Amino acid sequence: MSKPLSDHDRRKQISVRGLAGVENVSDLKQNFNRHLHFTLVKDRNVATRRDYYFALAHTVRDHLIGRWIRTQQYYYEKDPKRVYYLSLEFYMGRTLQNTMVNLGLENACDEAMYQVRQTPSPSHWFAVVCFCLLQLGLEMEELEDMEEDAGLGNGGLGRLAACFLDSMASLGLAAYGYGIRYEFGIFNQKIVNGWQVEEADDWLRYGNPWEKARPEYMRPVHFYGRTEHHPDGVKWVDTQVVLALPYDTPVPGYRNNIVNTMRLWSAKAPCDFNLKDFNVGGYIQAVLDRNLAENISRVLYPNDNFFEGKELRLKQEYFVVSATLQDIIRRFKVSKFGSREIARTDFSKLPDKVAIQLNDTHPAMAIPELMRVLVDEEKLNWETAWDICVRTCAYTNHTVLPEALERWPVELFAHLLPRHLEIVYEINRRHLEVIAAKYPGDVDRLRRMSLIEEGGQKRINMAHLCIVGAHAVNGVAQIHSDILKATVFKDFYEMEPHKFQNKTNGITPRRWLVMCNPGLAEAIAERIGEDFIRDLDQLRNLVKFVNDEAFIRDIAKVKQENKMKFAVHLEEHYKVKINPNSMFDIQVKRIHEYKRQLLNCLHIITYYNRIKKDPNKQWTPRTVMIGGKAAPGYHTAKMIIRLITAIGEVVNNDPVVGDRLKVIFLENYRVTLAEKAIPAADLSEQISTAGTEASGTGNMKFMLNGALTIGTMDGANVEMAEEAGEGNLFIFGMRVDDVEALDNRGYHAEEYYNRLPELKQAIDQIAGGFFSPKQPDLFKEIVNMLMHHDRFKVFADYEDYIKCQEKVNALYKNPKEWTKKVIYNIAGCGKFSSDRTIAQYAREIWGVEPTLEKIPAPDDKH
Ligand SMILES: *Cc1c(COP(=O)(O)O)cnc(C)c1O
Repeated sequence: MSKPLSDHDRRKQISVRGLAGVENVSDLKQNFNRHLHFTLVKDRNVATRRDYYFALAHTVRDHLIGRWIRTQQYYYEKDPKRVYYLSLEFYMGRTLQNTMVNLGLENACDEAMYQVRQTPSPSHWFAVVCFCLLQLGLEMEELEDMEEDAGLGNGGLGRLAACFLDSMASLGLAAYGYGIRYEFGIFNQKIVNGWQVEEADDWLRYGNPWEKARPEYMRPVHFYGRTEHHPDGVKWVDTQVVLALPYDTPVPGYRNNIVNTMRLWSAKAPCDFNLKDFNVGGYIQAVLDRNLAENISRVLYPNDNFFEGKELRLKQEYFVVSATLQDIIRRFKVSKFGSREIARTDFSKLPDKVAIQLNDTHPAMAIPELMRVLVDEEKLNWETAWDICVRTCAYTNHTVLPEALERWPVELFAHLLPRHLEIVYEINRRHLEVIAAKYPGDVDRLRRMSLIEEGGQKRINMAHLCIVGAHAVNGVAQIHSDILKATVFKDFYEMEPHKFQNKTNGITPRRWLVMCNPGLAEAIAERIGEDFIRDLDQLRNLVKFVNDEAFIRDIAKVKQENKMKFAVHLEEHYKVKINPNSMFDIQVKRIHEYKRQLLNCLHIITYYNRIKKDPNKQWTPRTVMIGGKAAPGYHTAKMIIRLITAIGEVVNNDPVVGDRLKVIFLENYRVTLAEKAIPAADLSEQISTAGTEASGTGNMKFMLNGALTIGTMDGANVEMAEEAGEGNLFIFGMRVDDVEALDNRGYHAEEYYNRLPELKQAIDQIAGGFFSPKQPDLFKEIVNMLMHHDRFKVFADYEDYIKCQEKVNALYKNPKEWTKKVIYNIAGCGKFSSDRTIAQYAREIWGVEPTLEKIPAPDDKH
């Protein structure tokens, strides 16, 4: 008889977390103690938990350094084509555990931390013993919880960039992420009296052990000024200069010894900023005014899928583009290929050595900026420069919502970037010439396709600029790419169909399975080995086990454990008690009308009313959790949060309902909370109006973590249904065609309101103050919107949604059948690895070949 394993021993067994060799562990222990002493300058008596985190972070970081330097040397020697991913957002979350997973150090570190605690320092043994007792069971996780999220993104777009970095490194691409080192990332959300309150995200307060400043690579970025046209070319003069200071963060691939670089720029005022003509007194003011320049990288704009035409935002966009292009061109010039063999740089080779991917139009200024560098500075003729520019750049579109498309006022542009405006006008002049030649007399087409929108305030359409200036344009799920071709970019597709592609989004299975759900990763590895971590298509092999009783039990058990753990977390942090035997029904994503959190609310209210009407029936217990941030300026989104918390106040305190229905608002949804909530979900809510969610990636995270999806035929849901079998998802509601047909007929909310008594009851309750008795008309704007100007047709999908939720309840009563569907879903996840997405970008847009080969490991002992 073997005695039951302790948590500690259990974790050691788990193979997906790497091997804990004896030598490995003792080195880690030694280095941990060395860092605590020399780096943190603490002894074990006065060290805080945060000190321990930093000591561990530095210990793990040491293992990256040799691999990082070696990888960059290797790229220099081999000189492969470089891939540059330009993005205003990198929503990275935490780094420590991800680094341990990708380096295979997790178990070794776990064991080292365990042993460190077993050897208390003799003088203060009592303090250390107390510390040990506190840590029992959760040691490593408590240290990990000291790390701040790098929240340099809003939602899906920023998180996609982060997943792509992991996949590009894991597939051996010579890739770089380029962005801005915001001093403040996405705000922290507090819920106060049911309302969202924003707090500044001071994530760098305690220092960031994962970044390295590179002041030697600082670059000047110019703004304002005017242009001078000389016979030998154009000069941009009288500009104001801001310096771009790069900070590098290592990006390790999954166990292949490759470490790529994410380079984020921080704004620095030059030493002589505003000091050119100072007098006594002016000096102090000039130093204080340095802030004005440095504000460029101060804060992330907190809008998701919304364009706000502010000058500071345009400055951010040009800042990252200008600094990055200088870096790209410098690297091209000093590369073996670029300069050593030829005296003068041959820019015609640029598209063979460089691929630039634009994450939405946010870095679109790369196109006119590259033209400016090639024409004004490198003295290439326009035609040659344009050919190079188009062949180098590619553009990813992330949305069709008109309010999200960037259309910069010409006036603002002219003031901030006068030379770029001239270049955009020249690009447009030639572009319109081509159209006019191809479609003679079609004046309306010229107007529709122009980069400049006339009528009222003149604006530059940045998506049009990107389509014209790039050789590839892609949407992020098949249905979205089809919509681009059929509607928003129809004219462009007609003229240049070869440019249009699809690259369905994906997520990295390292963070979104191995790291956040080790229990599930282990249960899978026991059946099909652990190669699926590199090659997610292998999850298909799980289909063999759908009827395997032991596997079904394992999968259900892991889910139950994750639910208990999340319930404990919620109780500890938010003092809410939830029933871990209830169905965890979760909708987490940015709060937006198109994502239809309001449809979810209507289901909650309907379910509540049904329970109240017939309290003795066997209702399937549900805990509905909704989380997400509202953009601070988005009034309706903030009211939606208030409605969710108001419904919770009534439902959660109704003794008739008991724990058969609870409504929890998950405060401050971010990458780290996603990693805790998603593995605990039974049901994933993906209920946007068909045609509005470009892809979604939250949907994929839930699917991979063993939740079933209730969703519309929108974004990547369509492909998820294709991969898992439509019968294994709960699909409901209008398809894109139905939405279009309804638009043509005319959508009239009151028809549904009058026809469906339960809908009417729910709306009347919201409107009548049932959920806000102290302020009966608190939600009148929301009701008015739903009844009279709902762009996203919530009521049209209400009836089918409620019916579909009934099917969900029925299946949940049969745990075995539920879990079988879960297994089909996990087995169908292969396509949604960002490794697949990146391999397609590599082959079909960038012209580089991915590889699973490793490079040699360095000797970490120095
Ligand atoms: C994945 C992710 C998102 C995107 O979720 P969607 O449901 O696709 O909108 C947003 N925020 C965070 C923190 C994420 O991890």
